[in-house]
Amino acid sequence: MGGFALTTGTVRVKSCPETMKIVEELRVLADGMDERNVLPGKAGEGKYGSGILEVEVNIYGYASASHASEINDKVREFGPYAVEAAKFTTEWESQQGRFFVGSKEQVARAESKDALERIQELVHKLREDDAARALQAVTRRAKMPPFKRRYFESSCNICPFCRSKNVASGPLEADGVVAWAPVECPDCGHSWQDVWVLIDVTDVLDKDGREVPCGSSGMPATHIEGKEEAQ
Ligand SMILES: [Zn+2]
Repeated sequence: MGGFALTTGTVRVKSCPETMKIVEELRVLADGMDERNVLPGKAGEGKYGSGILEVEVNIYGYASASHASEINDKVREFGPYAVEAAKFTTEWESQQGRFFVGSKEQVARAESKDALERIQELVHKLREDDAARALQAVTRRAKMPPFKRRYFESSCNICPFCRSKNVASGPLEADGVVAWAPVECPDCGHSWQDVWVLIDVTDVLDKDGREVPCGSSGMPATHIEGKEEAQ
């Protein structure tokens, strides 16, 4: 299944054959999409000195979920060569996301700084009674084990333990607005359960086959948030 995919961001890396190889491989992955700028240029000499490349990535167009996550994984390969953590913005089928590229320590630092900024943003925007709930949601996400975050970031189509693409999903079993599906990875033997929450009702017809307007999703935002948490 394909959708509109976007990966954009700028990372400053050491200029070496390894980083040029990643640039080339990214260009190959982006080939055939609408826009495929992977531009390495010299960064300002002042702050970082010479030997540093500023790689501007701007890839978007129609892609499958696995192709989109392959592009993001390739961008992450710049990590060990990064001068500082770089923030990348992604989108797939209007689901927006972001990730950081850098060494483990750089990424951890950038992620906690980013989480704090998001909390401050939320608290600023929300009424006081909503702020506590928003804080809870962000804290829950921050406490999420890394495999779960990897799974969500991959649009849940690769094994979060061994990155195999052979994950097999069993039948969906529903009870009210919640549904479950068993998932198994034949390559590493891990198994888990995907949890789904109903978020909308669409394509409604009356008894004569006439379309009934559905409007936007009637679910309150917290419900949808719950889906993200539980999926
Ligand atoms: Zn696996």
